[in-house]
Amino acid sequence: MVTTYHNYIGGEWVPAASGRTFEDVNPADREDVIGLFPRSDGGDVARAVAAAREAYRTWRLVPAPRRAEIVFRAGEILVRRKEELARLMVREMGKVLAEARGDVQEGIDTAYYMAGEGRRLFGHHAPCELPSKFGVAMRVPVGIVAAITPWNFPLAIPTWKLLPALVCGNALVFKPAEDTPLMAHTLLEILLEAGLPTGVVNLVHGLGEEAGAPLVRHPGVHLVSFTGSTEVGREVARVAAETYKKVSLEMGGKNAILVMDDAPLDLAVDGAVWGGFGTSGQRCTAASRVIVHEKVHKAFTKEFVERARALRLGSGLDEKTDVGPVINETQLLQVHRYTEVGRGEGARILVGGEIATEGELRKGFFYRPTIFDDVDPKMRVAREEIFGPSVSVLRARSLEEAIEICNDTSYGLSSAIYTRDVNRAFQAIQDIATGITYVNASTIGAEIQFPFGGVRQTGNGHREGGWTALDIMTEWKTVYVDYSGRLQRAQIDV
Ligand code: NAD
Repeated sequence: MVTTYHNYIGGEWVPAASGRTFEDVNPADREDVIGLFPRSDGGDVARAVAAAREAYRTWRLVPAPRRAEIVFRAGEILVRRKEELARLMVREMGKVLAEARGDVQEGIDTAYYMAGEGRRLFGHHAPCELPSKFGVAMRVPVGIVAAITPWNFPLAIPTWKLLPALVCGNALVFKPAEDTPLMAHTLLEILLEAGLPTGVVNLVHGLGEEAGAPLVRHPGVHLVSFTGSTEVGREVARVAAETYKKVSLEMGGKNAILVMDDAPLDLAVDGAVWGGFGTSGQRCTAASRVIVHEKVHKAFTKEFVERARALRLGSGLDEKTDVGPVINETQLLQVHRYTEVGRGEGARILVGGEIATEGELRKGFFYRPTIFDDVDPKMRVAREEIFGPSVSVLRARSLEEAIEICNDTSYGLSSAIYTRDVNRAFQAIQDIATGITYVNASTIGAEIQFPFGGVRQTGNGHREGGWTALDIMTEWKTVYVDYSGRLQRAQIDV
């Protein structure tokens, strides 16, 4: 028997009004149906927005330290259920167990950090130019937040949005990715167990066009916080502009590792393997390009290819597995299509380049870790986000050329440089145009207390994580108190 799950609207678990559902499937075994989830539409979304608006009236008045206590308790429940959630996540999304534990841990870290913000949420005070006048700027909630999330960090990314939104006093409608609805369901259960009042978070499952789009259009929503592809992000921004919503977008990446001729090569190979093939390459910060100094190109690629060939594919629950499946069949075919594109453009495949079908792998969506060599920066495989275990190696003759190649993409999320020369490291920090740069570490490894996001088509100027998440989830209100007892005119009575 397959379990049927519901939306959570205004304190009740309800099916989609249409009664329609969609399947949640294990990407390592397509016959393993995890559950049936509501295939919601605009009517369900409208009810969820109405419930959020009702709950917002009282929730915004709950003191922030009290709101934060609920977030803290959610963190404690996540700690208690970490292993169970990690295993559920592997079954639903496919990443290997160690990484799934890391995903839950990121949710815990976010909960504890944001709980602390309940007693900070600092504003600003500045002296006024007139006597007996007091001025302060303070944070107030934005109102109703639409949180739209992808499947690749099915717990961490929802916590990045929901937890700061709650501490700041917003009410939400949460539309999670259709590939990972169970993680979203479980997070909501945890928030309710932690004491979240009815209607403050409403969960609406469904497909992007059917449930996500009406949420973005809905005039009762004040902020859309979106993480996903650049293509959908552009559409979200366009539609949201019609009703003047605040929009925060975290989108795609085409991140590069620069390997200089003085790099610690073993470490650089470790970074390329982890950055390129961790989470089967399905991280927005995945190292999908490696730009190698021509002097070490041969030595680096030899080692990189050997390591990639040795990676074991399989179910993420098996502790011996290095690389799990990709999320679904569409993604599997897309990754393979890029292999054909690369081949057609003249890139050389050093390893991989095919769908893995032997034994149990046939049941799921597995792709062999793939490395292209002889990649020209103008090729599509060097410019477009593939979002799978596929890495392009490019050559550079100097640091300057490597940086130029690195910056020559429409994305700007993460980057890394391996070098023993501190001057080169600082030059890279200065000249690489991305939201995040690592030195002697791979393109992945963000911590939640720092801003996370990118430039160009990766984002629209907002940063999740750390204190900058509060800038997304609040508006500034400036307050002047004139206690002089007479009319005082700013800029005039000087
Ligand atoms: P996606 O854009 O297909 O979907 C993301 C979410 O948007 C899903 O919940 C989906 O249902 C919804 N959606 C789809 N169409 C919509 C529409 N018209 N209106 C409103 N909502 C809609 O992305 P995905 O495949 O789930 O995730 C992979 C992408 O996410 C990659 O491009 C990756 O780089 C990006 N990503 C970015 C970050 C970051 O922080 N920069 C983090 C993780 C993933």
